[in-house]
Amino acid sequence: MHDAVWLNARLATLAGPVIRDGALAAAGGRISWVGERREWKGDARVQHDARGAWILPGFVDCHTHLVYAGRRAHEFELRLKGASYEEIAKAGGGILSTVRATRAASEGELLSLAQRRLRAWLAEGAAVVEVKSGYGLDRDTELKMLRVARRLGGVTIKTTFLGAHALPPEYKGRADAYIDFVCDEVLPAAAAEKLVDAVDAFCERIAFSRYQTARVFDTARRLGLPVKLHADQLSDLGGAALAAKHGALSADHLEYTSPPGIEALARSGSVAVLLPGAFYFLRETRLPPISALRSHHVPIALATDHNPGSSPLSSPLLAMNMACTLFRLTPEEALAGFTVHAARALGMQSSHGTLEVGKAADFALWEIESPAELAYAIGANPCVGQVRAGAVQ
Ligand SMILES: [Zn+2]
Repeated sequence: MHDAVWLNARLATLAGPVIRDGALAAAGGRISWVGERREWKGDARVQHDARGAWILPGFVDCHTHLVYAGRRAHEFELRLKGASYEEIAKAGGGILSTVRATRAASEGELLSLAQRRLRAWLAEGAAVVEVKSGYGLDRDTELKMLRVARRLGGVTIKTTFLGAHALPPEYKGRADAYIDFVCDEVLPAAAAEKLVDAVDAFCERIAFSRYQTARVFDTARRLGLPVKLHADQLSDLGGAALAAKHGALSADHLEYTSPPGIEALARSGSVAVLLPGAFYFLRETRLPPISALRSHHVPIALATDHNPGSSPLSSPLLAMNMACTLFRLTPEEALAGFTVHAARALGMQSSHGTLEVGKAADFALWEIESPAELAYAIGANPCVGQVRAGAVQ
């Protein structure tokens, strides 16, 4: 006996061809049957009529900085007057202004801010949202951010430790000493509290070097944690190749990644995570190497990169549209980027990203004529139902 079945649905399972008249059943929070309606012979306690809606896997947003305090709209105004992201960062603004506000906020305040932000993802049928630390840059605040992320409700949360996000003011001019602190104290403490699902770093001229990043990755490996990397966003520091060398789940941004970096990603099986929100908001012009990623069969995921400084974007749907308009992804690639490949970028390919028997019954119903409409429309939200662990939300 299945717990529930959805009939009269069009199914984009992302694991095979679309099914125009499908049935999808759930039991024990997992998908227990999926296929052509005429082949459905099962029994279910509850029968739902999908009324011809499309059922797609719940979106996976594999790169966000959702937990933070403070406001950054004034920097937006400054940038519009000509200041660059790097100039704002060097002048003590940027990330460090969010660090000050996040350190000052209580766990309860951070939780209520982040939970409120998360509503936008829930409304678009998100099933999984990754949340990074990296606005504490001290032991207590990094752990506080990760605890807040663990307490967020409504979707499955994956936490990523990003202690090596920026250099805190108290370590000015002493980046190696800060990396010692991250590797010797903060990351081990966060891991001991079971607050960390993966470890990330910002490898960039304005952040940390390849060598410093490699030290963080070595510590992650000793703790048995997978790694990811903010790589080659503003310059080609060889970040993608470094991520690949460490067997990273993903290398993210990649605007400046050169051909050897892409070949390394292809060999390592790491996912390329493209972040069109930051590209758009920073008015970048250097496109990520899409055709090389395609020709090397590197899986391409998309994410919102939601953060207060460079990508205040709260909509997977809009990110899909941006990926198509700005990066020339196809709507099909954009959809795979927020489902099957995004799940892989979090190491969740066995439970999320497609509609297959045994995976989590986390999916959304859409009132659209074809899945391509999701990437095509700007500012519309045709989501008409969300199901988490088999339960209608
Ligand atoms: Zn980021």
